Amino acid sequence: MANPWPTAQAEVISESPLAIKNPKTWSHYHTYGGWGKFFQGLQQKKLLATRCTNAACGEKSLWLPPRCECVDCWHPTEWIEAPQSGEIVTWSLVKYPGELFRLPADTTLISVELEGVCTKLMSWLKDGKAEIGMKVKAVFNTDAPTNTILDLAWVPA
Ligand SMILES: [Zn+2]
Repeated sequence: MANPWPTAQAEVISESPLAIKNPKTWSHYHTYGGWGKFFQGLQQKKLLATRCTNAACGEKSLWLPPRCECVDCWHPTEWIEAPQSGEIVTWSLVKYPGELFRLPADTTLISVELEGVCTKLMSWLKDGKAEIGMKVKAVFNTDAPTNTILDLAWVPA
């Protein structure tokens, strides 16, 4: 018994050179692993960082984004709530967002310095015009959360 020919016909979008439309859709399943608590914290309007638990380790600053293990000694870290106000250390304006960029053109990306945090947090300015040294405070998207880092933004303090 012979198998029948496939019936799905590809749409021809160009005769020369011959090109067809081949639509694809897929879902990417992504686990946050040990960082899940950070994203859950955003829904509770908490900015959760981590800190090394090793008493002998010299690094006692907070890590934000959080780290599951201390970068210096590889000991486990503990969750600590970070300050929700800080200062813009640098910024840029997105003029041509890439296809997967989820914010519109003219979004201001910022690096925020928070007291006690050894990293600069990359994020976005939801309102206002960015300036280096500008005081900002965190705001959280809890009404219609995306469950991504975009649920955190900053506004002038
Ligand atoms: Zn450590």
